[in-house]
Amino acid sequence: METTRKINCICSKCGEKEEIELPQIITEENRRETEDLSLFKWKCPKCGHILKLLYPCMYVNEKKKILIWYINDLKDTEQLERELPERFQQSTILFMKRFCHTLEEFGEKVRVLEGGLEDRTIELLKIMTFARMHISDETIERIYFYRRNEMNNCEFTIFTREGPSGITLPFSMYEEINELVEREMPVLQDRFYCIDLDWAGEQIMQRKSEE
Ligand SMILES: [Zn+2]
Repeated sequence: METTRKINCICSKCGEKEEIELPQIITEENRRETEDLSLFKWKCPKCGHILKLLYPCMYVNEKKKILIWYINDLKDTEQLERELPERFQQSTILFMKRFCHTLEEFGEKVRVLEGGLEDRTIELLKIMTFARMHISDETIERIYFYRRNEMNNCEFTIFTREGPSGITLPFSMYEEINELVEREMPVLQDRFYCIDLDWAGEQIMQRKSEE
């Protein structure tokens, strides 16, 4: 995987073409644009139309030992280990290694891990909130961690059929679940994990079947 990637953008509205170069290995320097996904948007210089760019990329923060990989096809963790660029094979030992299947989850994962939060806790919080809200609003489709606000509480973005809205959960709720995660969940190994809503759903099913 090269550090940057050349992309030929063609406007789907007016046909304007432009070749741009984007980081494929993303570092802290582009953290904000990755977190809000603006890095993956191309604005047509002629008509202003905006295109979303999808390409496999990786976010690496060596200081905080974070490696997040966005891949749009399905791969298992062993395949990922093998395909990890050679220069990262040794240098990322004991990093937090994650992979994501959608760009939205990729941006979210950077927000969570860069924010110093435990992503397993965030996914469990999300699934519980999703389930609770689904009782009164069946049109709820997706939920993403947005940020910790100035009061330290956790803000989430909710997508329903009506469009996006937000919900804020007290940080004490995060801490409560986090304590449970630390106490009861196995310590993560030095390998890639996909920790998303499906993962959270599996954990809850497992707990239910053990009860
Ligand atoms: Zn255009």
